[in-house]
Amino acid sequence: MSLTDLTFGDKVKPVAIERFKGEEGTPDVIGLMSSKIKASFTHYDPRTGYFYCFKGECCQNLGLPSVRYILPVVQYTLLGKANDLANLDYGAPITLKYLSLGKESYEKLKVKWDLNGDLTHKDLLVICDDAGYQKLSFEVLQAKESKWRSDPALLQQVKELANDYKLLIDLSVARNVTVDKMLELLAAPIEERPNTRQSKPAPARQAPRLAPSSQVSHSQPAQQALPGSPPTGPAGAAKQDDFDFDSIIDNP
Ligand SMILES: [Zn+2]
Repeated sequence: MSLTDLTFGDKVKPVAIERFKGEEGTPDVIGLMSSKIKASFTHYDPRTGYFYCFKGECCQNLGLPSVRYILPVVQYTLLGKANDLANLDYGAPITLKYLSLGKESYEKLKVKWDLNGDLTHKDLLVICDDAGYQKLSFEVLQAKESKWRSDPALLQQVKELANDYKLLIDLSVARNVTVDKMLELLAAPIEERPNTRQSKPAPARQAPRLAPSSQVSHSQPAQQALPGSPPTGPAGAAKQDDFDFDSIIDNP
């Protein structure tokens, strides 16, 4: 990464992919981009931020990792009121984000999938039931095709953003740390937080760019069975391959 030319007034965004975050009382509209789902096994501590479980001292120090289901989504801008589902007005500008779902929200989405079939060609209204824990519910919008696929300009935009997405998604969800780095971070005192009721900071903001050498043992945790709950999602078990944006975007 080097310096980027800007014209005065231009704004740039951080390189990490943002996590989708719902707010209570403010519905959002998203489209699922892929039927492939990833599981993340992460630990969180105020001193380390989110980092991927490497099955060792991390679990001994911080307990079992938490499991999240990671799904790539297009988030639209809601242009009108959200009370009339049949005539919902939404569209550009769009952002590519990732959904990070706990078991409960994931199972709610799975129910919608079972009732409606493949949801990767549908747009979804997302209701946030609890912003702190990001508990989400979903309503399937019954258009024939999701807006980002049916609008050529949006489709083009998604295609352009998808490559960066694939490169950055791993680092955006959590960071990879070595045992030594983890122990070093955990040795530091916990900073007093002025507002302890605040929800955990978004992992996206905590994902620094890491040297490739630090990307270790990330593949191990996802290959183990989920504690007490084997993945039963639309795509079956969590996969280690890339989200298959290419096949989905090119052969809708
Ligand atoms: Zn661990």
